[in-house]
Amino acid sequence: MALVFSGVTIPVSTIDWYGRSASVIFFNGCNFKCLYCSNNKFIEVANRLEPLFKKGSVVDIEEIEKQILDTKSFISAVVFSGGEPTAHPEELEHLARFAKAQGLLVGVETNGYYPERLGKLIQEKLLDKIFLDIKAPPGDAQRYSMVTGGIRDAAGHALRSLALKGVAVEVRTTVFRSLADVSGIAKSLEGRDCTYVIQQGIPEYAPDEKLRKEKPFTREELAALAKSVAFLKDVRIRTREKGEERIVRVD
Ligand code: SF4
Repeated sequence: MALVFSGVTIPVSTIDWYGRSASVIFFNGCNFKCLYCSNNKFIEVANRLEPLFKKGSVVDIEEIEKQILDTKSFISAVVFSGGEPTAHPEELEHLARFAKAQGLLVGVETNGYYPERLGKLIQEKLLDKIFLDIKAPPGDAQRYSMVTGGIRDAAGHALRSLALKGVAVEVRTTVFRSLADVSGIAKSLEGRDCTYVIQQGIPEYAPDEKLRKEKPFTREELAALAKSVAFLKDVRIRTREKGEERIVRVD
């Protein structure tokens, strides 16, 4: 099976799934066009991060399987990322099944646009964790559409993904000064059993010209944002300088 795949992988990552070593497999392409997405410069990003990344192009799915087998003794999980992995449901399911057969946990980093595809993976017991990007308050469809480059029904789909049961969920938001509405997003998570990660937006990767001129949030500013939503049980920040840090923890 040929896989529509960027060819970019991180064989062993300790930052994509907190507390675990995981292989990260990047699918190509996305149905959104987020203002801050670095996807359009995907290969350049890969080059910049060499040697962590092994870059390539569209590859056979067997090659991905081989990589999972090669790294199996160093990892406990596989994370499918992108682009948008759920835009390739057959390949995603095939690889998730393969990873599970190796005794590995499976996570998917997603924009949440295809809740029914995530639901199918849960039903088939092929998914252990969803890393769900929530880009604006889901109750604000207009703002959500603006951030995602005009996807008018994005907010509704994300809400349906957020409501999925039977799987651990980590919600993530990438923040820029002109886009951050952490408090609005956090309110939509109140009472839900999920982790919330506030990620430092990196202006130089953003396709949007205005965002590229912004000053990124500092670690201290992000920590303050996290503390401002301490009504949630588990809030973390992720920065270039320090990686992921837990700021709020309520047991
Ligand atoms: S959903 Fe993710 S991969 Fe897709 S455009 Fe937005 S940031 Fe990029």
